[in-house]
Order: sequence, then C-alpha cells, then structure tokens
Amino acid sequence: MGRHSDYRRLIWRVLGAAAGPLSAEDLRDALAETGIGIATVYRHLKDGLSDGDLVCVELPGGPKRFEPADQPHHHYFECVECQAVFDLVGCPGGLDRLVPPGFEMDRHEVILSGRCHDCVSSGREAN
Ligand SMILES: [Zn+2]
Ligand SMILES: [Zn+2]
Repeated sequence: MGRHSDYRRLIWRVLGAAAGPLSAEDLRDALAETGIGIATVYRHLKDGLSDGDLVCVELPGGPKRFEPADQPHHHYFECVECQAVFDLVGCPGGLDRLVPPGFEMDRHEVILSGRCHDCVSSGREAN
C-alpha cells in the first residue's frame, strides 16, 4: 500500500516536471532506478485518468502520452528525431476563421513538428 502511493507520487512528480506529455514507457524509464514495472505505471495512469487528475494526449502515430489535467489550453511540438513531445505555451487562436459557413467547431489541435533543441545541437556537432 505504502509502496503503491510512493509510486503514484513519483509518477506525478515526473509528469509535473516534464517538458511535455510522457508515455508509460517514458515514465518507466525515468523511474528505472526504483524498479517500477510497466504494469504498475499503467495502473497509476489509468487511476489518474478516471480520477480526472490526468489527461491522455494522442498524437498521430505516437503512443498514448499523459499529462496533468490542470494545465491551461496549450499545444505541442513533436521532435521527428527523438520523438519527444514538448508543450508549447499559448495558442495561435483565430482558427474559427478556417471553419466553413454553417459549421460549428468544438475543439482544435495544433501540432508543430521538427527537431528539438537537443537534436538540433547534436546535429550541429556532427557536422
Ligand atoms: Zn529531439
Ligand atoms: Zn489552441
């Protein structure tokens, strides 16, 4: 029991400090030294979703990723080299200008892709 709540606290801490949403595998890797298993990570993520503490972020072609539910509206940058996903601050807005007459938009997603800072830096070193 104590061990389970310890894991939950660790998972929440990693998610809270992350630069973007993380997959179950990311979390297991981040907590590798604790010996946490993937099934335990999934169980806590599932609990977090049903408690409304976490939201699931699904980008095309990627694994399910998770982030705290209490973040303001934001979008994502996906690195094509390391596949990491980073939170972006803010929203371009004005997207309803794209909506045809007679349509009603409920939500939108904006995903930028390219290379993250680390991948750009390591590419420069290689050249
Ligand atoms: Zn990268
Ligand atoms: Zn937006």
